[in-house]
Amino acid sequence: MFRWFKTQLDKINSPKLDWIQVEVTTCCNSSCIYCPHTLMGSRLKNMHMSLDLFLKLIPFIRYTKLIYLQGWGEPLLNQEIFEMIRICKDNGKSVGLTTNGMLLSEEIIRKLIDLKVDILGISLAGTRATTHNKIRQGTDFNEIISNLDKLSAMKCEAGSHVPALHLAYIMLTSNFHEIREIVPIAKRLGVRQIILSNLSLILDPELCSEAVFNDSDRADYYSKSLETTKALAEREGIVFEYNGPVLNDSSQHCTENVCNSCVINAEGEVLPCVFLNPLLCTYLDSGGKEPAGYVFKNESYPLEGFSFGNIRHDSFTHIWQDPRYAAFRDLFKYGALMESGYFMSELPNRCMNCYKRLLA
Ligand code: SF4
Ligand code: SF4
Repeated sequence: MFRWFKTQLDKINSPKLDWIQVEVTTCCNSSCIYCPHTLMGSRLKNMHMSLDLFLKLIPFIRYTKLIYLQGWGEPLLNQEIFEMIRICKDNGKSVGLTTNGMLLSEEIIRKLIDLKVDILGISLAGTRATTHNKIRQGTDFNEIISNLDKLSAMKCEAGSHVPALHLAYIMLTSNFHEIREIVPIAKRLGVRQIILSNLSLILDPELCSEAVFNDSDRADYYSKSLETTKALAEREGIVFEYNGPVLNDSSQHCTENVCNSCVINAEGEVLPCVFLNPLLCTYLDSGGKEPAGYVFKNESYPLEGFSFGNIRHDSFTHIWQDPRYAAFRDLFKYGALMESGYFMSELPNRCMNCYKRLLA
């Protein structure tokens, strides 16, 4: 009886969040050169989130606007994805996901349109096939664009404005020169938003030179190109977002909106961001294998994951309200008001050594 009463209270007190990101799978059909999938190999546990586990979250999303079905994997590989989308939509939620674009068959596009998925993000790493295919190995630029043309035509046929198309472009030193060309492509495809990301998690020291923020000699070139491209995009009515491209060492923010959103990984763990995903650290129980690490400012650090609870055993509301989690959020919420030394001393190591914080 007490447990029932507490669950009802937790449903009523569900947190009011901008979004919850749910990692529906950690499996992938590609091998992008910078991704943990490619670089960690078998140390990254491949698994789908089960529908039963997903359902445990639903009673507590009452005041959350958007459910984003995304983690370290290709979401369309989870056979339950359409049922998960349907459940979210039946609960009045906006739904989004980002895909590598290779599984967008007519049948899948039809389902996304029929289910009124609000946002479909497509990952690109170039505006020419030679560049994109070399970085996002296992995907094919021309095939993705052809799938997106199919999506536009089918939306038109169905008289549907959704899914709204977003392009997610990873900014690297080797593909930066193509960024300007993304605007005409986006315009032709009816894209609403272009989001540029940085190489924030560097798992291979050889990739350090691919991070735009490490190329300080050309910082002016990067900044000016981005400003010009943003103006170009905005003239076409396309939202253009990016962080950086230079590091701000005194930043006391985090670009991941940790105060008003969270991530639930494929095992049900609740975390502030994908970089703290314990599934990236499965080496801990893989016995004898070398720990996975990442590079931050020329130093190597072990990947550390942490979780504030698991929706399998506890209500999402209860986890969100955990005093440890609230204290973590307060650090970023009030960061700008804190003494810098205090802020840094309270931060977990992983956040202290995180490019996402310095690119805010
Ligand atoms: S498609 Fe996404 S999850 Fe798959 S390898 Fe590329 S970056 Fe990683
Ligand atoms: S600073 Fe980095 S590790 Fe910490 S919450 Fe932000 S993105 Fe995650």
